[in-house]
Amino acid sequence: MATFDALSRIQTPIQLTEDELAVFAGRLKGELIRPGDPDYDQARSVWNGMIDRRPALIARCAGVDDVVEAVRFARARDMLVAVRGGGHNVAGTGTVDGGLVIDLSPMKRVEVDPVQRTARAEGGVTWGELDRETQVFGLATPGGVVTDTGIAGLTLGGGLGWLRRKYGLSCDNLLSVEMVTADGSVVRASEDENADLFWAVRGGGGNFGVVTTFEYRLHPVGPEVMQAIVLYPLEIALPALRFFREQMAQAPDELSSFAILQHVPAVEPYPEAWHHKPAVIFLACHCGPLDEGERVIRPLREFADPIIDLSGPMPYVEVQKLFDEDYPRGWRYYWKSTYMDSLSDPVIERLIAHTEAMPSHHSTLDIWHMGGAVARPATEMAFRGRSAPFHLGIEANWENPTDDEANIAWAREVYRDMQQFSDGVEYLNFPGFLEDRERVVRQTFGDAYDRLARVKAQYDPDNFFRLNANILPAG
Ligand code: FAD
Repeated sequence: MATFDALSRIQTPIQLTEDELAVFAGRLKGELIRPGDPDYDQARSVWNGMIDRRPALIARCAGVDDVVEAVRFARARDMLVAVRGGGHNVAGTGTVDGGLVIDLSPMKRVEVDPVQRTARAEGGVTWGELDRETQVFGLATPGGVVTDTGIAGLTLGGGLGWLRRKYGLSCDNLLSVEMVTADGSVVRASEDENADLFWAVRGGGGNFGVVTTFEYRLHPVGPEVMQAIVLYPLEIALPALRFFREQMAQAPDELSSFAILQHVPAVEPYPEAWHHKPAVIFLACHCGPLDEGERVIRPLREFADPIIDLSGPMPYVEVQKLFDEDYPRGWRYYWKSTYMDSLSDPVIERLIAHTEAMPSHHSTLDIWHMGGAVARPATEMAFRGRSAPFHLGIEANWENPTDDEANIAWAREVYRDMQQFSDGVEYLNFPGFLEDRERVVRQTFGDAYDRLARVKAQYDPDNFFRLNANILPAG
């Protein structure tokens, strides 16, 4: 089985002359970083400490023209290219051994139009940076649940967060994109312009070009929302998850929730007696009126005697930071995902058994409640994975390289076991190491794959952008 790691290694390193590098560097407004430069090690690192690749060049792009220059430079030399937004992809698709990284992290401009309720954000913006600007006006677009994740990779792959059941996925709220395609052209795509490309980028990932600007629809959110955070002992996880299933069957769309199986963090404010003990956590965000939210989350808080209940009204920007400290940059991560056709008793029993077998105190099994607006997209687009009522995030998170094997094996075993409750569709933003990539991508896109392949053939016939959940160009 070809792993992404193998695919992202260059067999024959490209020889670059000092002259051509000087010309390239001179054409960039941003920096060109090379091995040996003082900030090379920092610039080549991505969020997942498992990923240790050594690019030949890192082009820190300061604007669209830099992206065009970088694409043309790599094209002319047949260099393997990785595109980086926030650098958070767990498979490390934002970097490459021996190739060129097109790094958009300096591209941070955000413009909010509070009257039209839209925001334009450049490809290097993170969710925390976008939320900060939109919340000034009491607005937001659905994003992810950790602030330093890039808007780019997350949106192009779908985008699941705290507003999903009310306002849909991040990609559902895209109004347009500006992109640099594989031949170095700058194109715009929206419902009215290059509509096929716009259909494809909403779920089809980084296959079609480098998105330099995302334009989003905004919605009134907060500034305070009602948040449930309640921990119960794992011993009562079976009745607790049955209760969660029943409650969610009648939940309003304003409520987006998880049930998470994990160990209690060994930090304040969690009671010391419970540190590192397994638990089930109800986490839910109600984005409607606070009093209504208080009423809706109350049953989750009153189910049994909790280990701790941290629920209450919270600024939306604080809710967005809730998980930040759980995912330090440089730790080791291996994440898979699968959609689940129900939260039946056999599903719950398997998940409890897998929790008891977790080799790391930092790992989690995340049961995302779907439905609501996720299941009702306003327009047609490439993203697949809307029909399941629950999505399972399988997160192996650990600190030491000596524990790699045990943690990866655990996550793979959970994934394998849970396939009996799944249709095989994966959320491609949690792709493991993109093992068995072609089969998984085809299975996930199903009947949309052929159309994606035709759009790929039109905009990237040579598969220049291939370090991703790759669509092979038709023909
Ligand atoms: P990068 O590694 O920079 O990019 C990933 C890939 O996206 C690139 O290889 C490329 O193919 C493509 N890409 C990036 N930028 C561009 C661009 N400008 N133009 C074209 N293609 C581009 N997902 C959710 O849905 N919800 C969550 O709540 C969530 N939380 C997360 C929390 C953490 C801590 C982490 C690590 C990930 C989380 N994810 C979540 C998964 C996340 O959606 C993916 O990891 C996503 O790939 C991250 O995007 P990025 O821009 O940061 O990544």
